[in-house]
Amino acid sequence: MSEYEPAPPEVDDEGELPADHPRYTDLLTRHRIEEGVREGITHLQGMHAEGRGSAFDYLLGEETIPSADRAERAAAAQLLLADRPVLSVNGNVAALVPGEIVELAAVVDADLEVNLFNRTPERVGAIADHLRAHGAEGIRGIEADARLPALDHERAKVDADGIYAADVVLVPLEDGDRAKALDAMGKVEIVIDLNPLSRSPRVADVPIVDNVVRAVPAVTAYAEGLADAPESELSAIVEGFDREAALAAAERRIRRGATDG
Ligand code: ATP
Repeated sequence: MSEYEPAPPEVDDEGELPADHPRYTDLLTRHRIEEGVREGITHLQGMHAEGRGSAFDYLLGEETIPSADRAERAAAAQLLLADRPVLSVNGNVAALVPGEIVELAAVVDADLEVNLFNRTPERVGAIADHLRAHGAEGIRGIEADARLPALDHERAKVDADGIYAADVVLVPLEDGDRAKALDAMGKVEIVIDLNPLSRSPRVADVPIVDNVVRAVPAVTAYAEGLADAPESELSAIVEGFDREAALAAAERRIRRGATDG
């Protein structure tokens, strides 16, 4: 099949997607986002975000680059060191990696919090139900009884016992303003975003420039491997991670196809 083979027509079930298509992952993520919109989980704006992400992933070679791999290991160590880790879930994350994010929460003993840019009770409910169907328990973000400072009302809503009180927060595909607000509160922030120039990864302590469908299982696998590691080893991994170098390596790969980082 040529790389320029057009995408197959719309399918009802992702099992119908041709697994040997050269851009299978892209077809799969697109399909899941479309399903998410149909099910009321993903906002229409999530489709635009997916399109932007897809373009950056193409330029990254649709693979986990070495600097992202190092970031995924540092993220696992950071989550294992945390006292109150929270994984933030928006509509794209729920559509793309529902089972995988539930598994990561279990492995690092973190809470899951529904945290939406376009927040409505219906979407919060649909996402919580979808996560429960994938094994989640005790989902946060439904009451959202606290506010992040310096953001307008709906975008600021978080749980007082969840993101507001967390020491380490994983925010995949986060909006730049909220990422900045969390940073200003002194949280350790782990951001997953395919665009290294986006504001969110640029304020992150651990920016992971990788597709969320690869990044979340990779962080889980590292966390499983490090589960019994002493704190000193985890701290050394966190301290050895260079966020500026990781962002620069991703940008070099995107701009010049450089494979050195
Ligand atoms: P800013 O952070 O500066 O506000 P933005 O407006 O581009 O940037 P959003 O639209 O809020 O950001 O979020 C979309 C971001 O998520 C984009 O940077 C896009 O590259 C990224 N993204 C989309 N799909 C994925 C994916 N599957 N995995 C990882 N990142 C993704």
